[in-house]
Amino acid sequence: MATATETLRNVIDGEPAAGEGEDEAILNPSTGEELARAPLSSAQEVDRAVRAARRAFPGWSGATPAERATALLALADMVDEHAEELARLEALNAGKPLAAVTNDELPVMADNLRFFAGAARCLEGRAAGEYMEGHTSWVRREATGVVGQITPWNYPLMMAIWKIAPALAAGCTIVLKPAETTPVTTVRFAELAADILPKGVLNVVMGHGEPTGEALIGHPEVDMVSLTGSVETGKHIARVAADSLKRVHLELGGKAPVIVFDDVGMEAALETIAGTAYYNAGQDCTAATRVLAAEGVYDDVVSGLSSQAGGLVIGDTLDAGTTLGPVNSARQRSRVEGFLERRPAHAEVVTGGGEPERPGFYLEPTVVAGLRQEDEMIQREIFGPVVTVQRFGDEAQAIEWANATRYGLASSVWTRDIGRALRVSRALRFGCVWINDHIPLVSEMPHGGFKDSGYGKDLSVYSLEDYTVIKHVMASLD
Ligand code: NAD
Repeated sequence: MATATETLRNVIDGEPAAGEGEDEAILNPSTGEELARAPLSSAQEVDRAVRAARRAFPGWSGATPAERATALLALADMVDEHAEELARLEALNAGKPLAAVTNDELPVMADNLRFFAGAARCLEGRAAGEYMEGHTSWVRREATGVVGQITPWNYPLMMAIWKIAPALAAGCTIVLKPAETTPVTTVRFAELAADILPKGVLNVVMGHGEPTGEALIGHPEVDMVSLTGSVETGKHIARVAADSLKRVHLELGGKAPVIVFDDVGMEAALETIAGTAYYNAGQDCTAATRVLAAEGVYDDVVSGLSSQAGGLVIGDTLDAGTTLGPVNSARQRSRVEGFLERRPAHAEVVTGGGEPERPGFYLEPTVVAGLRQEDEMIQREIFGPVVTVQRFGDEAQAIEWANATRYGLASSVWTRDIGRALRVSRALRFGCVWINDHIPLVSEMPHGGFKDSGYGKDLSVYSLEDYTVIKHVMASLD
């Protein structure tokens, strides 16, 4: 458990490894105080981790699916057994209300691990056959190899598990670099996992994008890089990976449109929309923060969202009643405030917009109305507790505006008209469309983007397949 004086250690080859160079403070966003210290790992430390993963690869990829499934089930049980500890550490390090991590995130993580334990044993291939006289062909799906995984700070452990579970199920070995501000739970998970997984199968190395992340994405012994992070980092990784033709898996930013027509039960709809917009202080790539409201209900939507925002309880992340925590860092708070400062004259801050008077990196829940399609707050991901509202005229305009950003991760349409719901869900260019809901995800269904939101899927068998390569074996029957 992290204390104010503990210096976290990397996990390399199944052992804790003290950093060899400088370290830095890891803060509690709720107070701004030091929670732990983390090493700034060098290229040499990354290299040691990659070599450990390479050594472990033949054994892990050669294990039977049943053996890998057994390990994944043991990891799920371990998460359940340590749920209280992991939830508390995540609340302290990521600035999340403890109740949300405990009730929403930890059970999902255990479920993800159990899903991939099952999926490991169910990979499918096409029929083998005699496609040339005297020969039989078949397809093998094999583990991709050593995977470099890089995670963000908004759901530190959950995003790590979304990557670790399918990679392990497929037979890959891993070097994972957590986001620099939120390594605590990932390191703890890897320490506990060292009692379950063979040495070198899961390595965790802490540090910033430069030099630690760069050393990982450029390493010649890494076969694939998987990132959950920003669009800019994703494009950079794809460019670097091109030099060695590494496979790339990118879950990037989002700017989810929430299209509200005038035929929905408004009170229940707005409660869900606000709940999912301000969840995790809006730091969610699928957050319901870009609302498009039909002309006839626009005023109701603006006032309803504002009153929902007013009902949120800002407080310490460990307080049971807290429903809105801080954003993750002082840097992220300034970034969000920058959008508000640069807002155009026609935008109206209906509620919020300021900093509550308390320590830590808090922001008031904010609603901004009157925005136009070309405005920066509509076009760029804000990633904070700020909801924007636009007024649309008809269905065609709603679809056009919803699609007219560079992102394509998630979206929702709110209507009781089944034909309209189906038309709109087909027309939206996003990896996910919810109808009359927003944000729920399940282990069995894929999560991933279109356009600048990246490519490759998390969750589901599609994600498992992303960590495999297909081999054709052809045998002469002579
Ligand atoms: P970021 O891109 O700044 O950082 C993400 C990770 O990439 C961090 O671990 C960081 O250290 C690392 N990184 C940065 N530069 C690197 C480099 N040159 N080489 C290697 N690694 C490097 O993003 P962030 O601000 O930490 O995370 C927020 C972003 O993540 C948002 O855009 C959000 O939408 C996105 N996100 C997407 C999903 C999804 O499923 N699509 C889920 C969660 C978050």
